[in-house]
Amino acid sequence: MDNFNLLDYQALPKEQKRRFLDNLYQFLLKNNYTAVDYQKLKIQSTAPICPRCESENVIKAGVRDGKQVYKCKDCGRQYRETARTFVYRMRKADKMLEYLKCMLEGKSLRACASEVGISLRTSFNWRHKILAAIKSLQGGISFSGIVEADELLMKYSEKGRKYRSRKEYEKAKKKKHSKVAVLVMTDREGNLLFKHVGRKKVTNSQIREELSHRVTDSNLICVKQKKEFKKAVKGTKSKKVVVNKTQIRRGVYSVQVVDKHINDFKVWLQRFRGVATKYLQSYLMWFVITHKYLTSEIESDIGRLLNLASSDRWAWDEYWRLVNTKYR
Ligand SMILES: [Zn+2]
Repeated sequence: MDNFNLLDYQALPKEQKRRFLDNLYQFLLKNNYTAVDYQKLKIQSTAPICPRCESENVIKAGVRDGKQVYKCKDCGRQYRETARTFVYRMRKADKMLEYLKCMLEGKSLRACASEVGISLRTSFNWRHKILAAIKSLQGGISFSGIVEADELLMKYSEKGRKYRSRKEYEKAKKKKHSKVAVLVMTDREGNLLFKHVGRKKVTNSQIREELSHRVTDSNLICVKQKKEFKKAVKGTKSKKVVVNKTQIRRGVYSVQVVDKHINDFKVWLQRFRGVATKYLQSYLMWFVITHKYLTSEIESDIGRLLNLASSDRWAWDEYWRLVNTKYR
């Protein structure tokens, strides 16, 4: 991007930033830039820290195959600028913009694959690289004003699991699994958290843990008449309301907003016909992104999604960890 510097972008006021991202897709197309080019820019605008020791003490060490190579002065590691980002080691990366478009259009893995011209396996991997990248945004979610919290319980799933033998398959089928517990929090400003916290149900300590990061004393927290939730809010300094049946229907202090998000999520998730529990958090974040950062204008959203995915310096690590998570 010849005269364009991402540091300039970072200094833009909020509205202009938004406009820049809305036009990013067209901008990249017009200039023949790929998702990898954009990722490089993002890296250069922060620091190309060493993927081994995370040192910032790095120098440029020449260009190989048209790609900038860096060297860590602390540990000696040489690496390319996109190391460990979501486009790391990606072949056919010039098709990524097109892939983001298909993904935002709600197409299946198979449909994305045939439209973009990649294999089904690659389509799966790309989706999960993108989702692994946006997962890291979860840490920054916080709330203002009235906060509503509730839980979503889902069926455990090992969708896509490969079995090495008939015996292993039968053993797995016999195994009983408890529900998967997701803590859901929202406010009236559109901030939203869906967090897979464990099994069976959301516990008092898990709720308190999240509240401690994301809520301050000036918030007011609304929860339902559920034991764990009541216990959790009791311990906080924030104001709290335990919502009873009549308030559910018509009060200011209600849990209507969080209920609606949970229902919307259930409907949205149906298009995937079940997701493996190890990937659940990825899908939860995808839903949050759709709600919070995207506009449902496909072209604008390509730029926004690309920008979000490129923001995670270590996306590839999370992707790799998930793919290699084994079932027992
Ligand atoms: Zn290093």
